[in-house]
Amino acid sequence: MDHFRHDDGQLWCERVPLAPLAGAVGTPAFVYSAATMRDHVTRLHQAFDGLDPLICYAVKANGNLAVLKLLQESGCGFDVVSGGELERVLAIGADPARVVFAGVGKTEDEMDAAIRAGVLMFNVESEEELEVLADRAGVLGKTAGVAVRVNPDVDAQTHHHITTGKKENKFGVDLERGEALARRAIAHPAMSLRGIHCHIGSQITDVAPYRAAMEAATGLAAALKPDAPDLEWLNMGGGYGIYYGDDSAPDLVDYAQAVRPVVANSGLKLVMEPGRVIVGNAGALLTRVLFNKRTDARRFVIVDAGMNDLVRPSLYEGYHRMWPAVGDAPPPLGSESGDEPCDIVGPVCESTDFFAKNRPLPAMERGDVLAIMSVGAYAFSMSSNYNDRPRPPEVLVDGDEYAIVRERETYEDLLRREQPGAVFRRLDVAEPQGDAS
Ligand SMILES: *Cc1c(COP(=O)(O)O)cnc(C)c1O
Repeated sequence: MDHFRHDDGQLWCERVPLAPLAGAVGTPAFVYSAATMRDHVTRLHQAFDGLDPLICYAVKANGNLAVLKLLQESGCGFDVVSGGELERVLAIGADPARVVFAGVGKTEDEMDAAIRAGVLMFNVESEEELEVLADRAGVLGKTAGVAVRVNPDVDAQTHHHITTGKKENKFGVDLERGEALARRAIAHPAMSLRGIHCHIGSQITDVAPYRAAMEAATGLAAALKPDAPDLEWLNMGGGYGIYYGDDSAPDLVDYAQAVRPVVANSGLKLVMEPGRVIVGNAGALLTRVLFNKRTDARRFVIVDAGMNDLVRPSLYEGYHRMWPAVGDAPPPLGSESGDEPCDIVGPVCESTDFFAKNRPLPAMERGDVLAIMSVGAYAFSMSSNYNDRPRPPEVLVDGDEYAIVRERETYEDLLRREQPGAVFRRLDVAEPQGDAS
């Protein structure tokens, strides 16, 4: 579900035509639809109606401050995985009591910042992390809210790079260890065990693993509850799949139905950490054709966006629909368009710099705008400056208006922190006194 559509011979985001927008802001450029994001939050609330979930939007999917602000206004809390993300949500005035802090490798500085801010829960993923967190909370004279992240060993049937709930993954602890960890948190004066957490992967299009995971988590919660007065939250993580065009995703209601009886019986409150499902289909990447190129074997369309801007196709074979911004709508999926297949590639000096291979696309000319769809999640947030390419602007569309919510980077930005004339220094440490003979 999104607010991008072809009408009157061109592609629109809400009521803004995208080819003229590309003219106004330049290419490549990310464009986000505010209405699409708001709709997805509303749909989540409707699907989980009665469970009244705390929706902690996963900032890593798309952390633009304007996006965070919009989602906060839609009633979301936040899921952060680093000190930088915490800084982002505090910058928009998020309520720390609606923020959860996840991740296998939190530093002491990150823990301190989150303890001071007063986040609702740390999702704790190992014994050592728990000890360090307890120590930091003690030193700061505060209480750290804790959720134990369990790894229920379920196979979420998604791409092997984005599954997290199998026992060979680095995330979480098994149920037995989870119980021991939880009991340690209960016993510690500087900790409050508030939840059981479970996040089994991303782009999951089968709802059964969620039920299995929540059954495991509620079983553990029930065993702990008599000793854990503060244990009130069940966190089902995120990972709900979206429609990219090569696959279909379940309706949000299906995810809700899968866990509803388990959650309702537990008597616990539900937290979720959706990222992709809220913002994924809300974004398009506008890029211009630089050149058409033919070899004996293939037709190439070379565009001005690269894998540094959108890495999903190269990184995990991510599929994205794409179509010229001017002209008729693409043919319905599965029907033969009659267009000649081509590889759509970027300018970066890597063979993995492609957006699609062997994809039928109408003839395009140098300067035409191509829209790459469903890039609201894990696109800009994973972008880099590889090949010294300034990152694209982010543009938020709301109704018939647009705002540039992150400016295009400049060459000056790229060079700013480098110091070719930096002074060499010596560390103040003794060198080993080797036997010189
Ligand atoms: C990445 C992540 C999410 C969000 O995943 P989506 O697939 O974007 O919904 C939620 N929780 C945790 C712990 C994560 O690491």
